Amino acid sequence: MLSYQHAYHAGNFADVHKHLTLYAVIDYLLRKKTAITYIDTHAGRGLYPLNAQETQRLLEYREGVWPLWQAGSTPSDPLLNAWKAALTKAQTDAAILTHYPGSPWWLSHTLREQDQLRLFELHPGEHEQLNAQALSPNARRVFGDGLAGLKAMLPAVTPRLCVLIDPSYERKAEYQDVADTVAYTLEKARHGVVLIWYPLLPAGNHHRLLSSLKASGIRNIWRSELLLHEPGSQAHGMYGSGMLVINPPWGLDKRLAATMAEITPQLGATSRYQADWWVGE
Ligand code: SAM
Repeated sequence: MLSYQHAYHAGNFADVHKHLTLYAVIDYLLRKKTAITYIDTHAGRGLYPLNAQETQRLLEYREGVWPLWQAGSTPSDPLLNAWKAALTKAQTDAAILTHYPGSPWWLSHTLREQDQLRLFELHPGEHEQLNAQALSPNARRVFGDGLAGLKAMLPAVTPRLCVLIDPSYERKAEYQDVADTVAYTLEKARHGVVLIWYPLLPAGNHHRLLSSLKASGIRNIWRSELLLHEPGSQAHGMYGSGMLVINPPWGLDKRLAATMAEITPQLGATSRYQADWWVGE
């Protein structure tokens, strides 16, 4: 039984980190005309009204998208500027932050005629809400397991593939399941771009994912982490957000470093950004 609902966390610092990275990757991919298949293995609802009861309960967006939206001046960083302009399009009134868009929105928004998008969601209620979203006609929503669904779609029918894997990690075994699925994906699509989100928690379970990927022999893995608090400063709860990008577009690391340098001070006095090559080329 799935209990996680992303509405409780919508727009938090991890979403900002994840969706800025996703936005930057898509922006690079769109520079070529060749068709892309996007697969979002854990889609969620797609769009989150910030006044929803669940979101108001924890108010996590106050330490995420909110301070960025509130920062009045135009960002000097071009990627952040473009991302904020896109975020504005998800609002009912351009002057007020009313909604936070999830990965299906970010992916669907930039979809071209030649591209396709598959969105997997296993929670019946979340899937129903996703179905109610207005998305591109090339976006297909599937009620089912995302990792199995991804495997079944390989090799992709388009020349290029981009996958987002963003589980809730409710089960510890998911870290290993993700690593195994990614190894299979890269066997079938050697040049596929794969983005994997993971939480930084005091229990350190993400190390299992990282070491399994390293042991699998996959090359070209870039790691990017946004820490809201220092590790060890709290006994419970997520202190940071991690992203791995396998086969990242050239220049992504430097571009995101510039964006993160602009946003980290806005996220709080203890926030910090770090990135490196987990596995080189
Ligand atoms: N990717 C979304 C975004 O960025 O807006 C957020 C996804 S949320 C962290 C994880 C989602 O995965 C939840 O909606 C949950 O119901 C769904 N989920 C959990 N297990 C799943 C599975 N095996 N296959 C597909 N979806 C799953």
